Amino acid sequence: MQRYHTPLDLVRMRAPERPVAIARPDAVSVAARWFQDNFKGDVFYAVKANPSPWVIETLAANGVTSFDVASIREIELVAQHAPGSRMAFMHPVKSRAAISAAYFDHGVRTFSLDCHEELDKILDATGGAKDLNLMVRLAVSADGAAYSLAGKFGIDPLQAPSLLLAARRATQELMGVAFHVGSQCMRPTAYQAAMTQASRALVRAGVFADVVDVGGGFPSVYPGMTPPALEDYMDSIERGFAEMMVHETTELWCEPGRALVAEASSVLAKVELRKGDALYLNEGSYGTMFDAAHAKWPFPVKMMRRQDDDAHEVEGPLKPYRFYGPTCDSIDHMPGPFWLPEDVREGDYIEIGMLGAYGVAMSTGFNGFGEVETISVEDAPMASMYGLARRSIAKPRSDLQNVVKLSRARGKKRRKK
Ligand SMILES: *Cc1c(COP(=O)(O)O)cnc(C)c1O
Repeated sequence: MQRYHTPLDLVRMRAPERPVAIARPDAVSVAARWFQDNFKGDVFYAVKANPSPWVIETLAANGVTSFDVASIREIELVAQHAPGSRMAFMHPVKSRAAISAAYFDHGVRTFSLDCHEELDKILDATGGAKDLNLMVRLAVSADGAAYSLAGKFGIDPLQAPSLLLAARRATQELMGVAFHVGSQCMRPTAYQAAMTQASRALVRAGVFADVVDVGGGFPSVYPGMTPPALEDYMDSIERGFAEMMVHETTELWCEPGRALVAEASSVLAKVELRKGDALYLNEGSYGTMFDAAHAKWPFPVKMMRRQDDDAHEVEGPLKPYRFYGPTCDSIDHMPGPFWLPEDVREGDYIEIGMLGAYGVAMSTGFNGFGEVETISVEDAPMASMYGLARRSIAKPRSDLQNVVKLSRARGKKRRKK
C-alpha cells in the first residue's frame, strides 16, 4: 500500500485516472483501543463490514484479536492476516462443509444458530463435538436502527426456551445468547431492551447463559445522522447486563463492524462530466457507494482540483449536487445532496468520506468498473465518534460539524467525572 500524507498529495503527485480507496489505519487503531478501554467484555470485529487485509492487521496490532466471521473465505482471511486469533462463526445458517472446515481445519469452536435444525447440523458436521460454544441468536426489536437485521435471522424470544435448553444440553463448554439490534443503531437503550428480552427467554428456559453477546449496531457519524455518544451505548449495556439473570462468570461479548471502521476509509473519485447539478463520477453504487444509492445516505464530500501540475482544495460557496456512477444502470444514482463548490467541473476530484464500513467492502466489477487501488494517508477522517475529525467539510450547513462538536463535548464531560 503506497503512503501519502494527505489525499491532496495523491491528487498532486498522481492525478489518478481510476477511483482510489483511501485508508486511514490510525482511525482503526483509535477505534480499536476505544472499544477495548470502554466495553467491559470481549470485542469481536465483524469482518463483513470491511475485510481489507490492512484492517484485520491493524485491529490485531491494536489488541482486537477476536473476529466474527460468516464464511470460509472470511475465516481464511483472518487466519492469514491475524494468525492465532479467535474466531466465532456467527452466521446462523451455514453449510455442513463450512462448519466442518471451520471446526477441523481452522479450530473454530464458536457457532451461532437460531433453530433446532441448525443445531443438529452443527453437531453432525463436527462429529458430535463436545467442546463447542453454542450461541443462540434471538430476534430483537430494531426500532432505533437504520438497517434492521432481525427480519432474516434470529428466533423469537418467546419461542426460544426449548432451543436454549437444547443448546445448553448439547455442550459442556459455553452456551450463550446473541442478538443484533440493527446496524447504525441510533438509540442506546435498544441494547438494554434487547438484554431484557434475552433475560426473560433464559428465565423461561430455566438455564443460565455463559455468554451474552450484544452483537454490533454501534453507530458512526454521517450527515444528518447524529448518534448519541458511544459512552451512552456502553452505559446501556452495563445497565442491561446488571439486570440480567446470569452467573458471576458470565462473559459479555460484542461484535462491532461499522463503529470500528466507518471513519477509516474514504474514496477519491473523478468528475467525468457535469450536467447542471448532476456530477457523473468514475465511482458509484456498484463500487464503494452502495449506501449512497440504496439507502440514499448523503456522505460527506470535499473537492480537489489539479492545476499547472499542482493541486489545491476548493472550498465554498457550496451548492447541492447529485451523483451518477460510471455504469450504464440507471440505479447507479446517488441523490445526496452532496454539498460542493459551485464551479465543480470535469477533471475535478471528489473525496467521499466515511466509506470504511459497508463501502469499500461492497465493490463489484459490474460493467468493467470497480478496480480500486488502495493507498494510505495520515490525516484525520472527515468525521469521528472518537474526537479525531479535522475541520468539517460541508462548512455552511454543517450538521456534520455539529455532530462532531457534540460528541467531543460529551466526551470531555464524561472524562471529567
Ligand atoms: C453485520 C453483523 C455485525 C456487525 O454489525 P455493525 O452494525 O456493522 O456493527 C455483527 N454481528 C453480526 C452477526 C452481523 O451480522
